[in-house]
Amino acid sequence: MKEIIMVKKRKADGEPCRKCLQVEEQLRDRGLLDRIDRIVWAVENEPASEGMVMAERLGVEIAPFFIVSENNQEKVYLSSLQFIKKELEPGAENRKAPEVPPAVELADELAGKSPLTVIDRALSLYGEECAISFSGAEDVALIEMAVQTGKPFSVFSLDTGRLHPETYRFIDRVRKHYGITIRIASPDREALEAFVGEKGLYSFYEDGHKECCTVRKVEPLKRVLSGYKAWITGQRKDQNPSTRGLLEMVQKDVFTGKGGGNLMKFNPLADWTQAQVWSFIRSHGVPYNELHDRGYVSIGCEPCTRPQQPGEHERASRWWWEEGTKRECGLHK
Ligand code: SF4
Repeated sequence: MKEIIMVKKRKADGEPCRKCLQVEEQLRDRGLLDRIDRIVWAVENEPASEGMVMAERLGVEIAPFFIVSENNQEKVYLSSLQFIKKELEPGAENRKAPEVPPAVELADELAGKSPLTVIDRALSLYGEECAISFSGAEDVALIEMAVQTGKPFSVFSLDTGRLHPETYRFIDRVRKHYGITIRIASPDREALEAFVGEKGLYSFYEDGHKECCTVRKVEPLKRVLSGYKAWITGQRKDQNPSTRGLLEMVQKDVFTGKGGGNLMKFNPLADWTQAQVWSFIRSHGVPYNELHDRGYVSIGCEPCTRPQQPGEHERASRWWWEEGTKRECGLHK
């Protein structure tokens, strides 16, 4: 006989873990909570509590998690999305995909809507064929919201090879925190070796960042995006009024996606300010890059990012030796 157990955490202060409550809420909203046979508590300061014993036995360090037992075999799921997909809604990916309205209609429909509503709509239309591009603080807020929708989604990150060690640790922390898969895309080896062989490792200080960004970011991005139909970015209008002031919530991208058509691009935070993003991060316990506590605001590659200077605009701390209108890496056209 099959038994499905959900293990939830109760913190030492007696409060239930917020993420466990969110996941439970998603299951309830989707009419799936009844499919869980037992909910078990792991009480943080009580190692003998049933959930803590299970976590110890299975070597699990995050909550919630799910155990599916059948025919003397156990399967453990650390990701609620994977659990839902494999155990509660198998075959959901084979259902007919909903029809996607034209970008202008979607833009009209979603104008003025909250980021969560925009993300929910994007994932309803595209599911795992929609990817969140993850590098900065805004992007983890997007991941948090995507998790809140309870719908499937994908995440990728570009490893330029020049990121701060703190950023690599941050990416892995996010992966563990949400129990998600993050696809890491690297530059093409041949293109990179040819570029570095000819121009060295710091040519961007002499003749601009465009060439290096093309090899390390733009080309890998195009390769990754060719596997999706839509993507979600953390761009905001207020990041750089010279280049992002007219940013739209939904737009047809210039990049080609899966099947050869242009990707649909969602910018759910377009109308948010930096302060709103940070308020969301703090109130939802969203992980962030430790460099933010050391004065960094917009974080990219290590040689091209510096802490924000007094009175400086946020994107001014990227490629600070170049003109403001050129401070984009080519990922967003
Ligand atoms: S941000 Fe700097 S190091 Fe990174 S890809 Fe662009 S130019 Fe190269």
